[in-house]
Amino acid sequence: MARYTESVCRLCRRENLKLFLKGERCYTDKCAIERRNYPPGEHGQGRPKFSEYSIQLREKQKVKRIYRLMESQFRRTFDQASRIKGITGETLLVFLERRLDNVTYRLGFASSRAEARLLVRHGHILVNGKRLNIPSYQVRVGDVISVKEQSRQMARILTAMEGVQRRGVPDWAELDRDNCSGRIKILPTRSDITMPINEKLIVELYSK
Ligand code: SF4
Repeated sequence: MARYTESVCRLCRRENLKLFLKGERCYTDKCAIERRNYPPGEHGQGRPKFSEYSIQLREKQKVKRIYRLMESQFRRTFDQASRIKGITGETLLVFLERRLDNVTYRLGFASSRAEARLLVRHGHILVNGKRLNIPSYQVRVGDVISVKEQSRQMARILTAMEGVQRRGVPDWAELDRDNCSGRIKILPTRSDITMPINEKLIVELYSK
């Protein structure tokens, strides 16, 4: 499967926004966007030109990058969202938020979504007591997401658990730190997603 292998800080600089892709480093003054807040590349400091298309494209790229998805995965999620009755852009964001890798990150078992995806893929995460290694799994109300007992002392998980105090756990989930587990209380809604996103632009882009 295709994978992005360059510096992820370039992605933040390209979107002119902290996307929090690097765990704890994002909260320090080593954050690249704090140091060089302009797009990467030779023309990064030039005057940008904005067309309607480029604004829509940037918004889509931003969301794709926040959730660390490739174009095909993102498009598939959009297509699923567009088949559901309701506001497509909002449904898309809720689908993204309900992904198992995102929930693993939001509960604090990983420092970033990319790390969370690896934990899921490598079988460290259980859903309702059973190993589930599908990062795109959509969590449901009542699901209990936990770290496999043998994996709870992994250094990266312990470090991530320290960081969750700063980030906080979303209102739609509750965390049992002692048992490395979390429960989905209610499904997330659009208002739970606090990153600055204008999802209407993504719908416009894909509707062309
Ligand atoms: Fe983005 Fe984090 Fe890198 Fe800062 S440190 S530019 S927030 S990935």
